[in-house]
Amino acid sequence: MNRWTVNSVVILGLVSIFSILLVQFVWMRSTVEMQAKNIAIQEKEDSLNLREFSQQAHSALREVLEQISTNHPDHTDLYGAIKQIKSNHFTVDFSDELQPFYLETLLKKELYHQNIHQDFVYGIYDCFTDSIVLGNLIKFTKDSLYADTKHGLPGLTPESLNLTKDGHYFTVYFPNVKPKTIEAAPFVSPWVYLVIIILFVIVFFAFSLGIIIRQKRLSEVKTDFINNMTHELKTPISTISLSSEMLMRINLNEENQDKIRKYASIIFKENKRLENQVERVLNVAKLDKDKVILDKELFNVHELLAEVKENFEFNQTDIGGIIELHCDAEHFEIQADPVHFTNVIYNLLDNAIKYCDGKANIQILTKNDKSGLVLEVADNGIGIKKENLKMIFDKFYRVPTGNVHDVKGFGLGLYYVKLIIEAHHGKIEVKSTPGKGTTFMLTLPLS
Ligand code: ADP
Repeated sequence: MNRWTVNSVVILGLVSIFSILLVQFVWMRSTVEMQAKNIAIQEKEDSLNLREFSQQAHSALREVLEQISTNHPDHTDLYGAIKQIKSNHFTVDFSDELQPFYLETLLKKELYHQNIHQDFVYGIYDCFTDSIVLGNLIKFTKDSLYADTKHGLPGLTPESLNLTKDGHYFTVYFPNVKPKTIEAAPFVSPWVYLVIIILFVIVFFAFSLGIIIRQKRLSEVKTDFINNMTHELKTPISTISLSSEMLMRINLNEENQDKIRKYASIIFKENKRLENQVERVLNVAKLDKDKVILDKELFNVHELLAEVKENFEFNQTDIGGIIELHCDAEHFEIQADPVHFTNVIYNLLDNAIKYCDGKANIQILTKNDKSGLVLEVADNGIGIKKENLKMIFDKFYRVPTGNVHDVKGFGLGLYYVKLIIEAHHGKIEVKSTPGKGTTFMLTLPLS
């Protein structure tokens, strides 16, 4: 997948997500507005209905009160006797003789007249003790209008019962009329859903994008590796092919013996080189974090560095590279696998030479800190850009150089270094300034 395809996928994805979200947003807004309108209408209707109900109930109770207040020919006395506690609950103060059955009949009649076709509960209370004396639930049914019920509160209302003692009041309660309350219903705004959807879509999109980018990087790394491999293997193969062709053409006589030996030795050397290359790649490529087996022993790091310096100077005699050791560590013995650890140092040194435009100037420093032994390898090479720095330890990763293969490698050196250092319970860090140089810092626990 090339950069253009990835960019198109990202742009198309973003456009479609934003379109969906826009549609969602518009749709959600109109739903919310409609919902708010409906609620307002409903509330208005409810309050009108309740107001009407309250007026009807008042009228009915007033009629009842007037008819049972035989001792009050002047009904202005009864002003304020009816009180509405809630929209469905009324009390009527009353200080006269009271015949409960008569009250019940009147309530049924007057409520019905006032078009209140609802079940109701009435209760007669003693003013002094504030306790219920008698009560009943009256069911409204279509055919019987109000039927006597056996489910009345304290019991049936006997016709003969007469409450002669004054000091009573009665209440009427309509259980099916819901009082108006500001309901804290579990109403979840649709915006919450929209936010959840947006978050979900964003997370999903970011996740998919992450996968696409990772796949793209993997495919780039794979292509680079194949290009490198082809380039690295092609040279010895063509040399071998050329030399064997010469061998075939040459006359097998005494005069040509030197030439024959020369071509045969070229074939042998190039074959060896090929073998080494393949071996190296295969060995490191199949190395896995869990498969590193170390043969640890007490290892003197300063001794190794002195040896490394000697080798380097020998190889760089003609080229003029410089290496300087600053062995400041007082404790320089670690538990390490000598073969792997030596390979690590040579890998870092090889890179310092490979990725340097002119004469290499390598500074190696050791010191002790609280974590153990710190070993720094600093060079004056081409450096590594910040965006590539975090990937240099990945398997097969090489800093892209276009299709130029002037520096040989398979992107396995630093992968191996990190693997080995971590297997020694150490850590590796890198600092680099493009054009100035790179410093690798190894920290290893002391033995
Ligand atoms: P390679 O076989 O390509 O050298 P490595 O794993 O050793 O593989 O290194 C990975 C990449 O890191 C290299 O391709 C190179 O671009 C970069 N690199 C490693 N060491 C250095 C260094 N000392 N200076 C600059 N770049 C480096």
